[in-house]
Parts: sequence; C-alpha cells; structure tokens
Amino acid sequence: MAEKVFYGKIENIGGTIKEIGFDNSNRIAIITDSNVAGLYLSACRESLEAEGYRVSSHITPPGETNKNGENYLKLLEEIAAIPLGRTDMILALGGGVVGDLAGFVAATYMRGIKLVQVPTTLLSMVDSSVGGKTGINLSAGKNLAGAFHLPEMTFIDEGTLSTLPNQNLRDGMAEVVKYGVLGDEELFRMVSHMVKESKEHGGDGLEILRGKTEESNQELRKIISRCIDMKTSIVERDLRDQGERNLLNLGHTFGHAIEKLSNYQISHGFAVAKGLSYISHFSQEKGWSKAGTAERIDGLLLDLGFDINTPYSYGELLQTILKDKKRKRNSITLVVPEEIGKAVLKEIALV
Ligand code: NAD
Repeated sequence: MAEKVFYGKIENIGGTIKEIGFDNSNRIAIITDSNVAGLYLSACRESLEAEGYRVSSHITPPGETNKNGENYLKLLEEIAAIPLGRTDMILALGGGVVGDLAGFVAATYMRGIKLVQVPTTLLSMVDSSVGGKTGINLSAGKNLAGAFHLPEMTFIDEGTLSTLPNQNLRDGMAEVVKYGVLGDEELFRMVSHMVKESKEHGGDGLEILRGKTEESNQELRKIISRCIDMKTSIVERDLRDQGERNLLNLGHTFGHAIEKLSNYQISHGFAVAKGLSYISHFSQEKGWSKAGTAERIDGLLLDLGFDINTPYSYGELLQTILKDKKRKRNSITLVVPEEIGKAVLKEIALV
C-alpha cells in the first residue's frame, strides 16, 4: 500500500487529518521534544483542537541519547494514564529522534495504534518519517529495539526548516545527495544547480532550504518529494529490509563505522558524506564504477560544505563493520555507485 504524504502548513494539519478520515471523537497525543515544542507545538495543537480532537502533549528531552528505553516507557505510562484507546492516534512532531521514539510507542501501545509523522528536520522529511522503521537505542547499540509500523500519513511543512540549525540542514543534505547518486541523476543535477546558484550569489548552498521565497519553497518541495518517492517505492517492494531496501544504505556502511569510530563526535550526516565519498573511490579503484563518478560526488559534497576526508584506515573501518550485529556472518553487503543515478548491491565474501 502506497504511503500517504501531504504537504502544508502545520497551522492546517487538523483539517488534513480529518480529510484522511480520522474521526474527531478520537484523541490525539502529540509527542515532541523540548526544542520543537517551543517552536511548533502550539500551532499544531490549536489546529487539531479547532477540528474537535481532544489533544494531549508529551515532551521529551532532545537528542539521540534520549531515544532510549527510559523515555519510551515514560511516554507509554503517560498515554496509558490519559487513557489513550485503541482507536486513538499518536502524532510525532519533530526530527528523526522523535519520529523513531514516538513511532515505537505507537507500534507497541496496545499492540499498535495509529501514527502520523510530522517531520521538522530535512533528514526526517526525506528519510525517517517514511518507510515505517521505528525504534530506540539500547546500551549495546543504536536502533536495536524496534518495529515496522507505517504511519497513516506523513505531513510535511517545509517552512519548519527555516529554524533548523545549519549543521542539521547539512545532515539532511547528505541523504539528499545519497538519493541522487542511488537512483535519480536528475535530482543530483537539481541539487548541484541549486548549490552553484547559491555560491554565485555568495551563499553557502543551503539558502533554498531556509525557504525565503515561494519559488525556493517550490524547488525545495520538488527535491524533498523526489527523495520520498524513491524511498517509498523501494520500501513498497521490500518493507522488511530483505534485499532491495539495502540500497538505501549507500554511504552508510562506511558512514556508520566512521560515526562509531569517532565516538559519535562526527554527526550522522557528516559521516554519511564521508562514507559516500569513501565507497565511491573504493568502487572506482576496483573498477566497479564509471570513471569520474567519485569526483562528481566529491565536488557536490565539498560545495555543500562537507569535509570528505576519512580519518580512519580501511583496516579500522572494516574491523568496525565486522562488529556490526546486523551483519551476515561471512560477508558484507556494499552498496556500489556504478554511476550517478545507479547503485547496485555487491556481496563481498570475507575469508
Ligand atoms: P533530531 O531528531 O535529533 O533533530 C536534530 C535537532 O534539531 C534536535 O535537537 C531537535 O530538537 C532539533 N529540531 C528539530 N526540528 C527542528 C526545527 N524545525 N527547528 C529547530 N530545531 C529543530 O535528528 P534528525 O537528524 O532529525 O534524526 C536523527 C535520527 O533519525 C537518528 O536517531 C536516526 O537513527 C534516525 N533515523 C531513522 C530512520 C528511519 O528509517 N526510521 C532513518 C534515518 C535516521
């Protein structure tokens, strides 16, 4: 079943939820973090209440370390105390941390209730709010407890990116570049053009994301929707990550290792940018990809302000990849960019 994605202003979200047929005799519990609450919670809440929904708000501390079991149980206790019933809904308002945490609450409360994702970071718009993966981190590793739980809809207000810090905008752009390399050369060209125009006017390549004009908002929506379309079509064919969905890990095999080796001092997006550059040079050296592919990828990443150097050796990276609990025993699967717009999976046997 195709995932529903709507674009609009948070002030109007109540109407959209009603349009998809969610009866207003039900409750909606908004889960958000304290940063996002200060910016968008009241607009969201007022819009839902104006449509007649009974609404509660649940605020968690921001950041990756709070995507944990303690906050998960606290949220479950809070919604059970209301009490939220089987026909009610959770609305996740925030970045990927909130989306994963609130999504896991929705997936497991009463064995699963309805969920709406309202992503407010670029990364969550193009990646985590679609595809149905939810979860929390355990001491032994990231995202080790989780569930597949598709949202009733994902509602995107690109205007929320205007308040997002540059670092987080770049984190999201690494994923956008990934989609371009993975399967959409036109998207890669659009982003390259956007960055070039911005640089020519003395910008940092990210202006469009801050949505100052109606024209730039439309460009931005085109970029976001192309990414989502690619993710949802891959997920439709492989929800449970048995094969093709692995393609979405382009740049992430080495990227995750870089993130881990840096003790998470290098952020996810910056690690993915390094991982993308690394795998493209690796593939080119092995003769798996078209000459010049790595240089085109590097060029765009550098223009976007990423440092693409990897401060770890191949041996260190490989050792870290081998420790990954989700890895198959005697092989690793690499996502190889054959050219811009085309990636394939390559299983590498380990001796
Ligand atoms: P995040 O949720 O931590 O958000 C980054 C920061 O921005 C936070 O401090 C947040 O409070 C703040 N913020 C959010 N929206 C804002 C806004 N509009 N204005 C100002 N500040 C805002 O980080 P993220 O990068 O969105 O998500 C990372 C998480 O996503 C990781 O936990 C990762 O595992 C997960 N993820 C999940 C999937 C999936 O398929 N489920 C895919 C990719 C990543």
